[in-house]
Amino acid sequence: MTALPTVAIVGRPNVGKSTLVNRILGRQEAIVEERPGVTRDRKELSAEWQGREFTLIDTGGWMADQDGDALDAKVSRQSERAMQEADVVLFVVDAKVGATADDQLVADLVRRIDTPTFLVANKVDSEQQAHVIWDLLTLGFGDPFPVSALHGVGTADMLDAIVTVLPPEEIEEDEDDADRIFGVSIVGRPNVGKSTLFNRLIGDERAVVHDRPGTTRDAIDTIVETENGPIRFIDTAGMRRKAKVDEETEYYSLVRALRAVDKSDVAFLVIDATVGVTAQDQRLAERVDAAGCPIVVLLNKWELLSAEERKDTMRAVERKLHFLGESPIIRISALTGKSVNKLWPALHDALASYSTRIPTRKVNVVIRNAQAAQPAPAGGRVLYATQGATDPPTFTLFANKELPRTYLRYLERSLREAFDMGNTPIKIRVRRR
Ligand code: GDP
Ligand code: GDP
Repeated sequence: MTALPTVAIVGRPNVGKSTLVNRILGRQEAIVEERPGVTRDRKELSAEWQGREFTLIDTGGWMADQDGDALDAKVSRQSERAMQEADVVLFVVDAKVGATADDQLVADLVRRIDTPTFLVANKVDSEQQAHVIWDLLTLGFGDPFPVSALHGVGTADMLDAIVTVLPPEEIEEDEDDADRIFGVSIVGRPNVGKSTLFNRLIGDERAVVHDRPGTTRDAIDTIVETENGPIRFIDTAGMRRKAKVDEETEYYSLVRALRAVDKSDVAFLVIDATVGVTAQDQRLAERVDAAGCPIVVLLNKWELLSAEERKDTMRAVERKLHFLGESPIIRISALTGKSVNKLWPALHDALASYSTRIPTRKVNVVIRNAQAAQPAPAGGRVLYATQGATDPPTFTLFANKELPRTYLRYLERSLREAFDMGNTPIKIRVRRR
């Protein structure tokens, strides 16, 4: 069982927290007390929106002291911890009253905590009252979500936003996942040495577990025991059946390679070192990269090169495949087996970075620090961020306005460095808030 994501509701007494909790739950589960500050028994409730389950933590009972006045220094450690451990904080204020000194105290507390926060302007019961929310911008949490917890207005939009920042759903821990086998495809132009490498990889000391029929009649995936656990090698056609090398197979090998890459977690891109990087190799590399598959470049037939040629070749390869960023380039001889063992640690790193999943909290700390070090131009700002998906890591940034591409690349770099994501492609999506 994995823990559900949590949403903590904070705010001074009487702003309508428990009313909001009830609204979210859609039934009278929490107890609404007219008298503020009455300690409530239940603080954690299971909620659901659009199929996403989460735990709501109402910090109401903790925040108020017995008389229902001032939060002062008594803001309990409990509510602080609840906020710290939450994935999202809903900071509720009373739009009818505006931002009070107590609201400022709560704001200070929330700001100290690196949890994505939504400002919720409650008691906006009618359109006419919508203007009062602008006063709340002074709290420094961006545009508030105007809602009426009592009448159920605006809460759907708020919930939509909440579920987008919840951490990605844990993949069901079913059988399939428990022994999920990573897929690797060996791609490259004809004659670069793919089948020789394949045979080497499944060779002597590494036992082939079994062949598994692929989706098409002639494609066969082979599972191999490696020091990284079992790896499924995805046939990129021609591994077994030697195709005639001509114009047509060049084309079809590209098509097949891309199809295999779609099913893969990592691609081994084999290049013939005696030929160097051709335009076709570049095209293939681009396509594989664009498919979101981390690439390990293998310079094969390395043993055929003289010392002189090796230096030049390496330099040329780095230049021509520069766009692949940090993809490792490994020099091997599939024929003699030289350096083929270097593939495993490279594969391990590629798989690890590919399936990295970073807690929302940490993503936001990195984004915040990056923005502090170098703010976006023209008042642009990422309000919060979340990793929406893995394989490859995909981040969603919620921003107050369009951000220039150069700035997005800067943020991407910050994330990549902070989380050691190596050569995996990273996707960044921006949503306006
Ligand atoms: P809490 O102390 O923050 O949990 O606040 P409650 O949920 O107990 O609400 C305090 C008071 O505000 C109650 O009398 C609620 O009925 C009222 N209230 C809550 N939400 C709204 C709303 O959207 N509009 C109006 N007009 N009153 C509300
Ligand atoms: P594929 O079409 O990419 O599967 O390439 P093959 O594995 O069939 O290899 C094409 C030719 O290159 C064969 O004659 C192999 O023996 C040869 N070859 C493959 N790897 C190496 C290597 O590391 N060194 C040398 N010298 N020849 C190799």
